[in-house]
Amino acid sequence: MNAAVCYEFGKPLSLEEVDLDPPQAGEVKVRVVATAVCHSDLHCISGEIPGRIPGVPGHETSGYVDEIGEGVTLVKPGDPVILSTTPSGCGTCYHCTMGFPHLCDNKPFLLPHHRNKKGELLAPMAGPVGGFAEYTVVSERQCVVIPKDMPMDKAALISCGVLTGYGAVVNRADIKTLDSVLVMGTGGVGLNAIQTAALSGAYPVIAVDILDKKLELAKMFGATHTVNAAKEEDPVKAIQNLTHGRGADFVFVTVGSAAALKQGFTMSAPRGTTILIGLVPVKESISFMAFDFLGGERNLTGCGGGSTRLNLDIPRIIELYNDGLLKLDELISGHYPFEQINEAIESTSKGNVIRNIVNIG
Ligand SMILES: [Zn+2]
Ligand SMILES: [Zn+2]
Repeated sequence: MNAAVCYEFGKPLSLEEVDLDPPQAGEVKVRVVATAVCHSDLHCISGEIPGRIPGVPGHETSGYVDEIGEGVTLVKPGDPVILSTTPSGCGTCYHCTMGFPHLCDNKPFLLPHHRNKKGELLAPMAGPVGGFAEYTVVSERQCVVIPKDMPMDKAALISCGVLTGYGAVVNRADIKTLDSVLVMGTGGVGLNAIQTAALSGAYPVIAVDILDKKLELAKMFGATHTVNAAKEEDPVKAIQNLTHGRGADFVFVTVGSAAALKQGFTMSAPRGTTILIGLVPVKESISFMAFDFLGGERNLTGCGGGSTRLNLDIPRIIELYNDGLLKLDELISGHYPFEQINEAIESTSKGNVIRNIVNIG
């Protein structure tokens, strides 16, 4: 079997033959069908987000269960599944009982399973999936069984980008009808925050980006107003003008940059909430004055992976897609065969695609 391996940060992946250790207790071997290229993969491959190398990136993945380890009860061989970096909860710990399974106190611990021909272990990068490989091994709690008629390329998108944007709105924010929403960054995650906010009754839904082409797409996903931050002399003022001088009730920052987070916070309304969704490189820091929080009683928080309740969110996203209320097809910019994985990554890094799908099996 083949996998795409990162040996050196910032260099193309090496598509090569590897071995795979069999699934242990509670683990599942999956035949990968499709893995989308996410910006978190780019951050890890470039070394901006530290990770172990050599490793196998890829985490927006769909496939079929091939083999199950001892004691697995959640899936069976042949099941079509979406793989998630966030496992479902144990169901009994404090946080699961409180309704926050993404914060489960008993997360499964996954060791690497891929090995190169020298026998070196290859760690999964950008989450415990290792999806840029023909087969991978994950915890059964990372798998969600999906309907047999769900197209596997669209299914792959759900596992990270869609779930993150959708979940930030549904699980983390508490949007009430006609609350104003601002989404910074209109990539895969941002577009999903936009379409879910629009579906939740927010108004206005303002999209901020630096590319007009992406802002046009944002309108198709439900943005009522757009601001090009590169062209606007004072983007903060532009947001105030669109919100009658108040700022936005909810600001979702999908751009992985400390400067964007600071600017997003400045664009929030008094008592408003800014939610960081994008991964910010570790070397970037940010400072606030204590008064920033006192004066307008603004909130600043984060949302990891859509604060997901996997077994609730993924079936519901699929229902909304099938009912025509959530767009998935329009998120796909291109399909690439596995041999062209580096082209798919290169094209994503240029910033003008939403999601490239790598067809693996
Ligand atoms: Zn991702
Ligand atoms: Zn738990």
